[in-house]
Amino acid sequence: MIIIKTKEEIQILREGGKRLATILHKVKEKVTPGVSTRDLDIYALKLIREMGDEPAFLNYRPAGAKIPFPASLCVSVNDEVVHGIPRKNKILKERDIVSIDLGLKHRGLFTDMALTVPVGDPDPVVVKLLQTTQEALSVAINAAEVGNTIGDIGNAVESFVGGRYGIVEVLAGHGVGRAIHEDPFIPNFGKAGKGTKLVPGMVIALEPMINLGTKNVALDSDGYTFRTADGKPSAHFEHTILITEEGPEILTYP
Ligand code: MG
Repeated sequence: MIIIKTKEEIQILREGGKRLATILHKVKEKVTPGVSTRDLDIYALKLIREMGDEPAFLNYRPAGAKIPFPASLCVSVNDEVVHGIPRKNKILKERDIVSIDLGLKHRGLFTDMALTVPVGDPDPVVVKLLQTTQEALSVAINAAEVGNTIGDIGNAVESFVGGRYGIVEVLAGHGVGRAIHEDPFIPNFGKAGKGTKLVPGMVIALEPMINLGTKNVALDSDGYTFRTADGKPSAHFEHTILITEEGPEILTYP
């Protein structure tokens, strides 16, 4: 069921989204050689607590998971697509790319955001992958107009990326707000005009995940981390968006 947010909820989500973006950009500044992925998680949690808010992912247990997610921040490095578990012994080095994904609960309501950042000076081929994925998110957001459908968003991303890269198909964007994952499921591919129509008051997380090589991914034995099947790098950008009559509004904006 798709939940249309009230005016009061939208005000809270705007404030939550602003806080989340501020935090994630601060965490991004810490992405440097020698830092562990666990350091990033600890820092994110510290910033969330200082604001009086709560992390959405810590102890979150998705359907089918054996254990709850053990961290606040998902940190996915290189061939890790999403849901990487922060670890003390996982140290970032020059030319890595690092996806940081954070969910925030502010006054009972959720927003979700991710970005991928290079460590030092990465390969130009990888820089292009990051740029294209960030652009794919903009393309998705621009398609999130009242009257368009979920299929229009997916189709816009798919058309933009073309055959240049592998678009991950088994993971998708989603509704967000009263829970961290709500309906609808929003794939990064699809047919124009198909699926649920977008209406004002819908809040959705759009999140293209794009691989340098194959679109295929595999779930790691830790039960959370998705990796590319061919070991090539993957990028991920995400914003929480409010659908309005005046066009899409990015809520996760500092
Ligand atoms: Mg998400």
